[in-house]
Amino acid sequence: MDVYVHKQKCTGCQHCKDVCPVAVFEMKGRGTTENPDAEGANGDTAPEEHKWKGVIDPAMKAKWENVSDGHKHFAHDNDGTSGGLSVAVNGSACILCQACLIECEGECITITDDNGTKYDSIYK
Ligand code: SF4
Ligand code: SF4
Repeated sequence: MDVYVHKQKCTGCQHCKDVCPVAVFEMKGRGTTENPDAEGANGDTAPEEHKWKGVIDPAMKAKWENVSDGHKHFAHDNDGTSGGLSVAVNGSACILCQACLIECEGECITITDDNGTKYDSIYK
């Protein structure tokens, strides 16, 4: 199994980490302007077009930046409850329960099973 996060769309809500039963995700800081990956935000298998380069998807920012639901959105750092960026550091452990796909408000998780079938976030 392979799991990655489309970094530009990740709000940092931490829902994925909270629901995953096998600890696939870790939250990382958003780095610096000079080095967006300074804190390991690109430590998963996201392809080049989905890597963190310091730019937030404008549509996702407009959708979530002013939502008050107890979770930080687009914060630089994680405070233990939210903030930062999600990184699928342990994708090979995924059991395809799909909990993260339902809970990912950024609609930005892609899972590929061992047969090559892709599963994308289905948050509505
Ligand atoms: S689908 Fe995989 S990565 Fe997502 S919550 Fe379930 S085990 Fe974790
Ligand atoms: S649930 Fe989605 S938007 Fe929220 S931190 Fe995880 S990958 Fe990012």
